Amino acid sequence: MRIVFIGPPGAGKGTQCKRLVEFLGIPHLSTGEMLRQVKKQDTALGRWIASYLDAGQLAPDHLVMRIVAHRLSKPDCKEGCLFDGFPRNVAQAELLNDHLRSVGTQLDLVLDLAVVEEELIDRLLRRAKIESRMDDNYETIKARLKVFYTQTSPLLEYYRNLGLLAQVDGMQGPDQVFGQIKQAVLARMSERLEKRP
Ligand code: ADP
Repeated sequence: MRIVFIGPPGAGKGTQCKRLVEFLGIPHLSTGEMLRQVKKQDTALGRWIASYLDAGQLAPDHLVMRIVAHRLSKPDCKEGCLFDGFPRNVAQAELLNDHLRSVGTQLDLVLDLAVVEEELIDRLLRRAKIESRMDDNYETIKARLKVFYTQTSPLLEYYRNLGLLAQVDGMQGPDQVFGQIKQAVLARMSERLEKRP
């Protein structure tokens, strides 16, 4: 299965992605994580990426697509993977569709984890205290949420029109959330099996 996981920062996407990749036995492709790895390197590319990450802005679409395409070419992605944090806007979604089509495959499901904005800010500020992630300060949190609502949320309509979207209520406890995710995944799996000749 090839699944895209969409959710605003602070929605609990990281926790749920971890559980889902364990459940399905597929690799977890987190572009935030991949970009943080590049940022760590003391290179011109690393410093360039840092300027986007530290401001809470999206890194350039083609660059992110190249990093993802490279990861997708590894053998462990053959049977599927979970995209976490990618695509982040419609342009990236189109790049991903084109790429998947060029290698003879496609997405199976897009999950959207919905949480109201006030709750997100609370959760992110709490996490900032615990993890001291560079981009978890109030200003950057606001910037990342703004990026989500202006650039990422139009993706929901985009994927709904493609018949790929399943929405999950992220305001429940982690086990209930995961229960809903499993239901959506299993429902899509059985649809796919029924369609097989
Ligand atoms: P969160 O979902 O908590 O904001 P991520 O780890 O997914 O965190 O992303 C952290 C940062 O990495 C983003 O704010 C952005 O700067 C960058 N980033 C991650 N994924 C992408 C992407 N697909 N395109 C562009 N930038 C990205």
